[in-house]
Formats: sequence, C-alpha cells, structure tokens
Amino acid sequence: MAKKPTGPLKPETLLVTAGRDPNAQFGFVNTPVYHASTVLYPSAEDQVAHRSRYTYGRRGTPTTEAMEEALAVLEGPQCAGVVLVPSGMNACVTALLTVLSSGDHVLVTDSVYRPTRIFCDSILRRLGVETTYYDPLIGTGIAGLMRPNTRAVFVEAPGSQSFEMQDIPAIAAIAREKNAAVLMDNTWATPLYFRALEKGVDLSIQAGTKYIGGHSDIMFGTVSANAAYASRLKETFNGLGLCAGPDDVFLALRGMRTMAVRLARHQESALTVARWFASRPQVARVLHPALESDPGHAIWRRDFTGASGLFSIVLKPMSEKAVYAFMNELQLFGMGYSWGGFESLVISFDCKEYRTATPWNPGGPTLRFHIGLEDPDDLIADLERGFVAMNAAT
Ligand SMILES: *Cc1c(COP(=O)(O)O)cnc(C)c1O
Repeated sequence: MAKKPTGPLKPETLLVTAGRDPNAQFGFVNTPVYHASTVLYPSAEDQVAHRSRYTYGRRGTPTTEAMEEALAVLEGPQCAGVVLVPSGMNACVTALLTVLSSGDHVLVTDSVYRPTRIFCDSILRRLGVETTYYDPLIGTGIAGLMRPNTRAVFVEAPGSQSFEMQDIPAIAAIAREKNAAVLMDNTWATPLYFRALEKGVDLSIQAGTKYIGGHSDIMFGTVSANAAYASRLKETFNGLGLCAGPDDVFLALRGMRTMAVRLARHQESALTVARWFASRPQVARVLHPALESDPGHAIWRRDFTGASGLFSIVLKPMSEKAVYAFMNELQLFGMGYSWGGFESLVISFDCKEYRTATPWNPGGPTLRFHIGLEDPDDLIADLERGFVAMNAAT
C-alpha cells in the first residue's frame, strides 16, 4: 500500500500524487469513475438529516473530489475552492455569473476568447450588465476605465489568437483597490506556468478541454477561486445545476498526471518551430511571448514560468490563394479549432472581425499554430513543403 507523501513537494510531483488515495480503494492506483445520481442513506434518520459524505451525483463523487483536490493543489495555497464544469466556455460563464449582478459594469480585454465576448454582448447585456472592452496592453491605465459600479475585470494572457501579454499584477492591484474582482482565462499557461491566484487573480478559469485533457477527446472546464470568492463560486455552480460528466472528469484527472511532461515538450517544440518561422522570408512576425523579440516578452519573463504550444504568425502580404495552398499542403497539421491535444493544428483567423477597443492591423494574413508532440524536425519539414506550395501559388 502507498504512503501519503508529506512535506513540501514541487508542482511536477504534486501532479502525480494529488487527488488519489490507493489505500481507500483496495490499492488501485487511480480513483475510479463513479457514474452516479442517487446516493443511498443508511437510515431514515440519516436521510432526513442529509447525513452522508455524498448526497447526490450532481453534488460530488469520489471522482470529482479527486480532480478538485488535484487542481486545487496545483493552483497553490491561495486556492480555496474549485468547480468542475462541462466546458471551458461554461467556466468563463460561471466565473462571470459568480461576481456580476444587474446594474454592474465589467471590463473585458479586447483580446478575450470570442465566445466569452459573445456571452457578454448577449446574455450579460440582457441581464443588465454593461461590458466595456479595453486595450489588452492597458496596464495601470485600467484605473481610468473603472466606474463606481465596475464589479469585475476580465483578463486573458496571452490572447489566444493575437498573443498580447497583460500586466496582470498591475491590473489586479487597481481592481482590488476599487473592490472589483479579477477573472482570468488561464487556459494558455495553465497554473503550471502561471500561478494566477498568486498574482492577484480572484477567479482563475481553464478550458480543461485543452492541456488538462491533452488528447482532444474531452470537453471540460474548471474555475478556481481564492478565499474571497470560493463560496459565491460554489453557490453559482450549484444554483446553475452544473456538473461535469464523470468519464470526462476521469480523463481530465488522468491528463493531469502527464501534463508537466507534455507541456515541457509543447513548449520546447513550439519555440523551435516559432524561431524557424522567424527566419522564413514569407513571415513578417511571430506572435509568441517567449520569443525575446516579442513586445510582451518582459512581462512573460517576469510573471510566467513557461510557455505552451500555441502561437501565431503574421505572413507578408499575399493572396488568400497562396495562404490556402500552404495550409492545404500540410500533412501533420490538422485544420481545426481547439488545441492542447497531442497533435499539431493550424487555423487561419482575423481579429478584425470582432475587435472593438483596439484596431487590428497586422499587415498580412494571420495563422495560428498549435505545436503537438510530434518530432519538430518532421513538423518543420512539413511546413517547408507548405511554403513551397505557397510560393508556387503566389
Ligand atoms: C477553448 C477555449 C475556451 C473554451 O473552452 P471549451 O472547452 O472549448 O468550451 C475558453 N478560453 C480559451 C482561451 C480557449 O482557448
């Protein structure tokens, strides 16, 4: 039987040890999947008093508790509560509804994940919450946008298409002074590479669909809160009737076990490919905060301990036909949304379609890449062939 580890452990070790207790499950290493709705009470007295460790499937099972515990440990000592939800999008929504009420004002970065923006512009607006989008590079300038009814500031760094870095400690300090909550979509870095709650964030969001799952086969989201917001978060989660599917929770917890090694490889290969892109004549700019040349590099270096596998490039001005010829030639890069799985992906995007606070004029077509766990030499050879096809179509 396993011993319970004691003493301070590093994040990589915690990802292996947290959220499982083989002694409580006949020695089996992993917490099993509990498919559950009804939980039976031993007696009438216990049922009437709700006297039971578990009360109902939606209210938690050993499987969901294991995942919550593992994530809470990874988020760090400021984490006072975690909820598991059916998607990353729902995690954004649940965090917003935790802090906002009718009559409130929310500040949202112009680089926010687009469906979050759509939620603000439709449902939040209908509920009487006003949204102002701000320049992601605003930093301490956020003070000028705060109103007496500003209840929340939503940050995301880097932007998941445009890759601006935000000065989160500076924004959080001002928000705290004005009594507004800071919500962060931390999907890109994960708590492994950015300790959001430690940097002043109140509610930290992850699309677990991405790096937690890691295999492009689940939909899953998480929200983690500090002590100031944990009970409001739980109340919102329960009130909305949310729960994540047990099989997806199991796969998410399994993904956590290998997340550190996967992310290290995503990081290294993405930097290799990003540097190679920077040397290509067809590429005008690489948008990746871990590159020394990136305008967000100093903030990334100061606040983050790593980079993941997602970045964008700006091509020199060229025809759509040439861009599509490049994309269609690739064999190792699938064309599809989402990211964070073991496989490489590419999409074409245009932030002009939705930006409102800041103009988006990159000066050429833009592509976003997710660098998977393939050998980067093979990925570069594939991209090389893509550029040959691009040149032929130009
Ligand atoms: C994918 C993504 C989401 C939404 O996650 P889903 O699980 O697809 O709903 C939210 N934020 C960011 C930054 C994402 O990349």
